[in-house]
Amino acid sequence: MHENITDRFANISNKIKQACMQSQRSDDEVKLIAVSKLQSIDVINSAYEIGIKDFGENYAQELSKKSLECPKDIIWHFIGPIQSNKVNLIAECAQWVHSIDREKVAKKLNAALDIKGKKVHSLIQVNIDREESKAGIYPEEVVEFARILDANYPNLILEGLMFMPKINASKEARINTMKSINTLHNSLIAVFPKCKHLSLGTSGDFEESIIAGSTIIRIGESLLGARS
Ligand SMILES: *Cc1c(COP(=O)(O)O)cnc(C)c1O
Repeated sequence: MHENITDRFANISNKIKQACMQSQRSDDEVKLIAVSKLQSIDVINSAYEIGIKDFGENYAQELSKKSLECPKDIIWHFIGPIQSNKVNLIAECAQWVHSIDREKVAKKLNAALDIKGKKVHSLIQVNIDREESKAGIYPEEVVEFARILDANYPNLILEGLMFMPKINASKEARINTMKSINTLHNSLIAVFPKCKHLSLGTSGDFEESIIAGSTIIRIGESLLGARS
C-alpha cells in the first residue's frame, strides 16, 4: 500500500511540475489535497508519512472520526455538501471549507465558529455547468454572495472559489468551461483581491486545471487508490 502511494505521489507530483512549467507558473503556487473520503485511517497515515499534510473529506461524521484518530498536524479540508445540522462537526475539525454555497449554512457555520473562537479558510462553491445534480451557486450570483459573506460572516475567511466541472464533457466544452471559470475568478478578484484561490481539478482533469489557473487540486483515487 505504502509503496503504491509513494509511486503514485511521485507520478502526480511530476505531472504537477510539468503543468506548472507549461503554464509558466511556479509549482509552489499549486497545493495538492489528498481526497480521503471512504479511505481507511491506514491509507491516510501512509500518505501522511510520505509528506502529504492536506486531506479532503466529504462527510462531517467521517471527518470528525478521522481527525480524532489521525496525526494532529493534518490540515483538513471539508469539500462535501454542508448539512446545517453538521456545522458543529465541521467547525470543530476543518481548517478549510470549500463548499460554501448558501447563506443559511454560512450563518450557522459562522455562529458555530464564534462559539469555538475559531476561523476557517472558505471558498464559494460554484455550479459552473449549471447541473441539477450538483451543489454550488450559479456564476452570476458569485460576486453578490461574496459581498454578503464578507460583510456578515467574519469567521469565514473568504479566499476564493471551488468548482467541480463536468469531467466527461468534450474537449472543446471543457476548454470553454475553463475560460468561464477564469473570467469569473478575475471578476471576483477585481472586487476582492484576497480571493486568489481556485480549488479546481481532480484525478481526471488536474493538469488542464493547473494550466487554467488552479491553486488547489483535489485528488482522490489516482493518489490513494480505489475507494472502498
Ligand atoms: C471525490 C471528490 C474529489 C476527488 O475525486 P477523484 O476522482 O477521486 O480524484 C474531488 N473533489 C470533490 C468535491 C470530491 O467529492
